[in-house]
Amino acid sequence: MARKSPQPKATSAEVLECVQQNCPSCGKPMWNEYNNLRRVRTIKGVVQLLLKIHRCQNITGERYRIKYRPEQEGSWALPQQEFGLNVIALVGALRYQEQRSIAQIHQQLRNRGVEVSERSVTHLLERYDELVALWLSDHSRLKAIAKKQGRLILAIDGMQPDVGHEVLWVIRDCLSGEILLAKTLLVIRGTVQLASAIATALHSFTAQDLSQVCVQTWQQLRSDLCQHQLNRIEQLRFRRNPEAYLATLEQLLL
Ligand SMILES: [Zn+2]
Repeated sequence: MARKSPQPKATSAEVLECVQQNCPSCGKPMWNEYNNLRRVRTIKGVVQLLLKIHRCQNITGERYRIKYRPEQEGSWALPQQEFGLNVIALVGALRYQEQRSIAQIHQQLRNRGVEVSERSVTHLLERYDELVALWLSDHSRLKAIAKKQGRLILAIDGMQPDVGHEVLWVIRDCLSGEILLAKTLLVIRGTVQLASAIATALHSFTAQDLSQVCVQTWQQLRSDLCQHQLNRIEQLRFRRNPEAYLATLEQLLL
C-alpha cells in the first residue's frame, strides 16, 4: 500500500528473537548477523519491532547464508504489510459478523486510535478476503513450498479482535513466511483439526505405501504399545493410592 502520510510514531517496542537457534537444515548454530526494524500499526498502537535475523554459516549446508527471521514476526503482520494482522482480523469481523459498511468500519478504527484512510480499509478488507480464501484444496501450492524447502516450520496464531468475535486462526510456515491457511472458528479444537489436515495434505498415502508393512515389525510394535499402556495403568494405580498398591504387591509376593 503506498503511503502518503509520514510513518506514524511508535508507541511501544518489541524485540523478536528466533526461537530456533540452530539451522533447520544442518543443525549447526545460526548467527545473528544483523537486525531489521519494522513498524506495525496494530489495534493497540504502533509497535516498533526489532527483528533479530539469523543466518547459517555452514558453507556446505543447503541453507548457507539464507535468512532465518524470528518466527513470531508473522503473527504481527503479513509480509510487506504496514497494518497488523489484528487490524485485518477486526476489519473482517466487523464486515462479516456485524455487517458494517466500509465507512462504519473506518469510523470504528479511528475511534480506537488506528489512523487509517477509508481507502486503506477497503484494501485491508481485500487482504482479509484473500486470507480466508486460501484453502487446503490448493495442495499444489503447499507441496511446492514443502518441496522447495524440504521442510516446513508451522506456527498457529489465533486472533480475537474483541470478546464475542470469532477467532481468526492463521497457520503459517515460518521458513517462507507464507500463510498456509486462515479460518475463523469459535472453538479451539478446530485448530488441531486444521494442523492435522495440513500434515496429512503434505503426504497422501497410496495403497502401495500401506501394503509395504512387515507383519513381524507390526506385531512387535503392537506388543510394545500394549506393554506401554499396561505400564501406564500400573503407574496410575500406584499414584492414586500408593499404600493400597504396595499392600497388594506384598500380598502377591510374600
Ligand atoms: Zn545450515
